[in-house]
Amino acid sequence: RARSPGEDDFHQAVEEVVHDVITIEKDSAAFTQARVLEQLSEPDRIVSFRVVWQRDDGGIEINRGWRVQTSNAIGPYKGGLRFHPTVSQSVLKFLGFEQVLKNALTGLPLGGGKGGADFDPKGRSEAEVMRFCQAFMAELCKYIGPDHDVPAGDINVGQREIGWLFGAYKKHRGQFHGSITGKGESFGGSAMRVEATGYGVVYFVMCMLATQNREIGGARVAISGAGNVATHAAEKALQNGATVVSLSDSSGALIAKDGLGQEAIDWVREVKGKGGNLSGPPAKLGLDYREGAAPWGNVEADVLLPCATQNEMDADAMRAAIDAGARLVAEGANMPLTADAVEVARKKRLLHAPGKAANAGGVAISGLEMSQNAHGRQLDPGTVDEALRDIMTGIHGRVVEEAGKGEWIDYRRGANVAGYRKVARAISAMGAI
Ligand code: NDP
Repeated sequence: RARSPGEDDFHQAVEEVVHDVITIEKDSAAFTQARVLEQLSEPDRIVSFRVVWQRDDGGIEINRGWRVQTSNAIGPYKGGLRFHPTVSQSVLKFLGFEQVLKNALTGLPLGGGKGGADFDPKGRSEAEVMRFCQAFMAELCKYIGPDHDVPAGDINVGQREIGWLFGAYKKHRGQFHGSITGKGESFGGSAMRVEATGYGVVYFVMCMLATQNREIGGARVAISGAGNVATHAAEKALQNGATVVSLSDSSGALIAKDGLGQEAIDWVREVKGKGGNLSGPPAKLGLDYREGAAPWGNVEADVLLPCATQNEMDADAMRAAIDAGARLVAEGANMPLTADAVEVARKKRLLHAPGKAANAGGVAISGLEMSQNAHGRQLDPGTVDEALRDIMTGIHGRVVEEAGKGEWIDYRRGANVAGYRKVARAISAMGAI
């Protein structure tokens, strides 16, 4: 805390991990000697830069951009770029820290980092967002590369923005190589990358339910968010027979007591793609829009998938969701529960999968995109989907193995310990460098 005063999100993420792994570090002479936790809590480097871009009316705007390179102990830095007014060094440090453990859990050779800018694309024209991406990459391109640091998308950075970012990278560096993932398939992107995080969350939930001899068909699933992760989680849940009872955005929630269908998901994608909000769904979709409401607590649901943003669900919201039937939470977003909400869920023995396990499908397919780029080949969607399912099943297995004894599976502990162990072995083996 003394080294990073006021960085609350970062402290929250680190504390959650320290709690579970401190005894593992103390029990190992090599990990203690290497001071692994302290090394991981201090990013390798943080690049911070000015981004100057021009509005359509000719005026100049100035934003701040960052790339936090947290650890490359087991592979090149890897993690998304987020454009949102709430982006700060603290938020990116927390995301980079979580990313290191998440990437280790995938079983792929990927280090961790995160980046972005305090730019708000809401209300900006397409041309303005493109100019911002180009200005951002004009600076970022000096610090990334295929064997060094490979960014991807995150909030407000989808395939469209990745195209502009990659185009700018190519122009400035004069090289066509896999320096960014999430690309369009016509220029080196992997099949299924867009779907991977949301689909992966549902594959992970299916593994969790299997530990209770349950299937997802018949589950009632409440989902927050209306972006990439949320809509793909909704789609995959639907395909597997679940009833999806809600989606939401920062304006409010769409509630569908009897379940929403693919048509509703398509409408959400269309309206969010145009920069709108969820109010005013067409009557034929049977959706009830509630301004300012949460997607859980006011509708019966046993599975919760928070897929919007950090700290979106507090203790009161968790209690209300439990009263409405919640028994399982899998985080599509990164750290969507406040520390108090986590405690409420743990006390009630909910099965609770943290984002570093449940939402690792996106980065895993990014890892496959990197290897496809390196080998100059492209896998078909069926092969990638099968790989995604195998990877999520593998993560689930590794997490359960480290979750500790007892009937209740402590997914948080399992994810923290499994991710930490892998990175700690690498850090301690490399000595003090
Ligand atoms: P998108 O930009 O596609 O969607 C974000 C959604 O969250 C939007 O519907 C947005 O609503 C909503 N949202 C943002 N802030 C708030 C808020 N304060 N309160 C309520 N709703 C909010 O992002 P993604 O779907 O890509 O990312 C969502 C989460 O998943 C993030 O935590 C991200 O880090 C995580 N994640 C994403 C991965 C990926 O592959 N994309 C990989 C792993 C994790 P509105 O439009 O109204 O702002």
